[in-house]
Amino acid sequence: MQAPSLGGVQVPRGNGTTVVRLRHGASLNDFADKIDANPAALVTVLFHLGEMATATQSLDEDTFGTLATELGYQIEMVSAEEEDRELLGAFDIDLQAEEADESDEDLAVRPPVVTVMGHVDHGKTKLLDAIRKSDVVAGEHGGITQHIGAYQITHEHEGTDRAITFIDTPGHEAFTAMRARGAQVTDIAILVVAADDGVMPQTVEAVNHAQAAGVPIVVAVNKIDVEGANPAKVRQQLTEYNLVAEEYGGDTMFVDVAAKPGIGIDSLIDAVLLTADASLDLRANPTKDARGVAIEANLDKGRGPVATVLVQAGTLHVGDAIVAGTAYGRVRAMFDEHGNAVEAATPARPVQVLGLTSVPGAGDTFLVAPDDRTARQIAEKRQAAERAATLAKRRKRISLEDFDVELKKGKVESLNLILKGDVSGAVEALEDALLKIDVGEEVELRVIHRGVGAITQNDVNLATVDSAVIIGFNVKYGERVEELAEREGVDVKFYSVIYQAIEDVEAALKGMLKPEYEEVQLGTAEIRQVFRSSKFGNIAGSVVRSGSIRRNSKARVLRNGTVVGDNLTIESLRREKDDVTEVREGFECGIGLGSFNDVNEGDTIETFEMREKPRA
Ligand code: GDP
Repeated sequence: MQAPSLGGVQVPRGNGTTVVRLRHGASLNDFADKIDANPAALVTVLFHLGEMATATQSLDEDTFGTLATELGYQIEMVSAEEEDRELLGAFDIDLQAEEADESDEDLAVRPPVVTVMGHVDHGKTKLLDAIRKSDVVAGEHGGITQHIGAYQITHEHEGTDRAITFIDTPGHEAFTAMRARGAQVTDIAILVVAADDGVMPQTVEAVNHAQAAGVPIVVAVNKIDVEGANPAKVRQQLTEYNLVAEEYGGDTMFVDVAAKPGIGIDSLIDAVLLTADASLDLRANPTKDARGVAIEANLDKGRGPVATVLVQAGTLHVGDAIVAGTAYGRVRAMFDEHGNAVEAATPARPVQVLGLTSVPGAGDTFLVAPDDRTARQIAEKRQAAERAATLAKRRKRISLEDFDVELKKGKVESLNLILKGDVSGAVEALEDALLKIDVGEEVELRVIHRGVGAITQNDVNLATVDSAVIIGFNVKYGERVEELAEREGVDVKFYSVIYQAIEDVEAALKGMLKPEYEEVQLGTAEIRQVFRSSKFGNIAGSVVRSGSIRRNSKARVLRNGTVVGDNLTIESLRREKDDVTEVREGFECGIGLGSFNDVNEGDTIETFEMREKPRA
């Protein structure tokens, strides 16, 4: 149905209940696509509603809401996960329904997947080596064990042979990076703590990450062979982090080990299996098309893209058409961690896969598609969605400034903070002071992670997963972390005075921390000659005196130091006969200020923009 709308443009209208689903960060182009309208028409309608936006700019829910109401639609914002689900739905793939349809008979017990975490030098790598060597059927595999990102061992537990899969990249970095991409790979975390060193910053980080993901922890108290080892102290220290040993009445299993000489490894694996059996229901349907996660991938000179995938459900076969994130292809060959060819990989089995046409990201989910064409189409659709999402992400996920708005909209209930400081004393003081803030009834203040040192990729990843704001006290960004924060839209605030941080957080909670803007001059131009045009109004023939003049920037006109025209916009900008977007210092140009015509020879045009002022 076409009907005249605001501004006289034709836009297909909804009946008031027609629902339009848009992803976060969508633009008018996307909206236009869904209702089969001309994007330019939507720009016009929105303009008449008092909002200026370009067709490609990503808009917030409220703006879409206003526009939709006007046109008889209802807006529903969709998350990236939901969008991907819909994308797959278009190919008749519904992973949730697939799982929901599975009955008990379809499900078979699968091995647990374990990640080893802990402080640097506490023995993670050695422990992974020792566990690998403990494999009871290692001899039968033949070949030398290679690092492919994960391995599986068989362990005799209470009289039966049980398989366990270990993620071979120690540390919580990979773990969190995967979680940030929505992939939960790990069932159980082994926390390695050196008994001669005790709980250290990364031990705490690891605990935070595992607990935030709801993954049960088994503690390996390592290096008990070293003089001065104090396993009891480790147990006592960890009680502070809600890890209470069974022998102290808690429910966490602590096992004393020495990875280097290989002491206690069997007991540790037993503890992992006991914990899995006690607290997890690890079953999967092995008979369907495979679904899982890519845990490592690289471009091999001879073999092309090589990805190690962990099958989470179903069985992966050579010849299957697969999509992993935005990569796709056909499984040409599969290898296990011993370099042996594998024909079929069942749940919890990690395999190297050859045959993809590009390299997927670690943490990308993969699935088997009905045929090659479908696999390619899914990958292409995802590539398009990813481009759109990158644009949308530039906007902050959560920031101190808009916290109250999100709170009122019911989008958040707690202000999650990550604290980083130069010394632990400062971090503790900051945390203590923050937790003393009277936050009122309807909101909660949570410090989800604290640590000493620069702001790391990890901090940003964790902030992404848990929508947290990072507070840095006398610290800076680590290498390349700023770009990541920017890309992920994570708000990071730096302070060197504790009370200022407290003030800001308090203000954020009370909704008083509005951004302050300041004017930043972009350029000035001197008018040399005025050209009168009946069609375009007066054009100021000018020479740029400083900076540069950009089309669409804000402007004012000064005559002998007095403002004669304000709130103007550089509506047209020409060099010679060409429309240009920017003219630099020293060059001549023709400037049109829209309907503002009061320009004289000798006047100065000044352009500026409003920038958010950094807080002291
Ligand atoms: P990671 O940084 O946590 O991966 O730690 P590594 O596995 O690289 O171990 C750090 C150092 O501690 C290495 O020199 C290991 O040889 C040593 N180490 C690891 N486990 C033990 C152990 O059980 N006993 C002794 N004495 N040394 C160990």
